[in-house]
Parts: sequence; C-alpha cells; structure tokens
Amino acid sequence: MAVVETRKLTKVFGKAEAGAVNAVDLVTRDGEFLVFLGPSGSGKSTLLRMIAGLEEPTAGDVLIGGKVVTRLPPRARGIAMVFQSYALYPHLSVQRNIGFPLKAHGVPKEKRLERVRWAADLLGIGHLLERRPRELSGGERQRVALARALVREPTVFLLDEPLSNLDAKLRASAREELTQFHKRVGTTTIYVTHDQVEAMAMGNRIVVLDKGIVRQIGTPREVYDEPADTFVATFLGSPP
Ligand code: ADP
Ligand code: MG
Repeated sequence: MAVVETRKLTKVFGKAEAGAVNAVDLVTRDGEFLVFLGPSGSGKSTLLRMIAGLEEPTAGDVLIGGKVVTRLPPRARGIAMVFQSYALYPHLSVQRNIGFPLKAHGVPKEKRLERVRWAADLLGIGHLLERRPRELSGGERQRVALARALVREPTVFLLDEPLSNLDAKLRASAREELTQFHKRVGTTTIYVTHDQVEAMAMGNRIVVLDKGIVRQIGTPREVYDEPADTFVATFLGSPP
C-alpha cells in the first residue's frame, strides 16, 4: 500500500507569481527510501512540510496510508520529522530527550523507558543515555535526534537535509549509518537533499525537483543514465 501520496499538491506563498510547489503527484512504496533532490529553492522543504502538516497547501491533497490527511494536524498523521537543525533540549539527558515525545503523549514511565532503550539501541547510543547534549559529538547528537523521532514508531520518517550540519567526513559515515538504519527498521522514509551524490548513494528512488515541479521520478540509475530532460541531465551530471 502507498504510505504517502500527494495529489496535485500545490503551494503558492502570498502573492508570489510562481508556486513554490506545483501540482506534485507522487506515491511512495511501502518501506522505501525516497529522496527529494533539487537545487536550493526548488521546493523540497515546502513539499515535505506539507506532507508533515507544517505548511498548509494552496491546493491538492496529502494521503497517508490511503487516508486523506490534508486537514489533519501533524500529530494526527503518524509521521516523524527530523530537521536540519535538530534542536535537542540542552538541559535534559539523552534519555529524557528521546523520551520526550512519549511523555508529551502520556505514555507511562515503564513503557517509556522500554521504548527509549529500544530506539537508543537501534541507533547504537544505548551507552549515552545519562549524558547531556553538550557532552556529545555532532554525530551522536544526530543519532539522538533520530532516536527521538523514531521512538513513537512513526509510519513515515521525514528527513530534511539532516546531515548538512556535519563536516564532510562525518557526513559520509552518517550517510552510511542512516542507510543501514533504514534497512533495519524498514520505515518508509522521505529524505530531502540538494546533494546528488547523497541522493544516488541513499535513495531507492529519487524525485528530481526544479521550481516546484517534478522533473523525473526513478531509481538512481534511471535518473542518472536516462534523464527525462536537460535539467535532470545537467543537475545529475554536475558535481554538488
Ligand atoms: P528548498 O527546500 O528546495 O531549498 P523551499 O521549499 O525552502 O526550497 O523554497 C521553495 C520556494 O519557496 C523558494 O522560492 C522560497 O523562497 C519560497 N519560500 C519558502 N518558504 C517560504 C515562506 N515561508 N514564505 C515565502 N516564500 C517561501
Ligand atoms: Mg530546504
């Protein structure tokens, strides 16, 4: 079943002449790692935010698990989102940071601890639960943010350039970790990046965006070897 579907999803900000996102139709496959790839300003974040319910569409619909959720608030959509700036609570331990979404939803303490342990172990940070964010490396903080997003077992994971604050070396290993992590949990994931190499390395399929329009949807090989138009050919062919 399609986990996320958009139908003619459109966003026009204020009196702008062109839409930031223009009639986007897409369907995710269950468990896939789908990448939104495009240059800065191509509408990737806006599209993702509309799926998350953080941005109201001008037109069109979002469906999750076959149900129209266009008018539902983010918390009713069964999704979790990790942003570029993954703010952790600096005064709370890793354990409390990860458990926070559960607490906010009234999950009892016993159950909470169990879920936190599960998420932390999945991300290999089970030994860091007592630390504060300032006592962690950039990569470890990243993993805490992912664990926090994972802890409620979302049906969809939305990641908006989550690695862009990391240096090149850390980024390469974090990329690999995320890919492995996705293989383990199998949660349908939509991942936003402007980095062609990242998209090629991580995506099961890539949605190439330009000016809020889907230029092509295909496997990394398809968009690279058989670009649908000159935009895709030029963008995929040029170094990031
Ligand atoms: P990307 O994530 O691909 O860099 P965005 O979705 O952030 O692109 O932006 C797409 C377009 O929408 C850009 O032209 C941007 O300036 C515009 N935009 C994004 N957010 C807003 C906003 N809150 N108000 C007005 N314009 C916006
Ligand atoms: Mg963006």
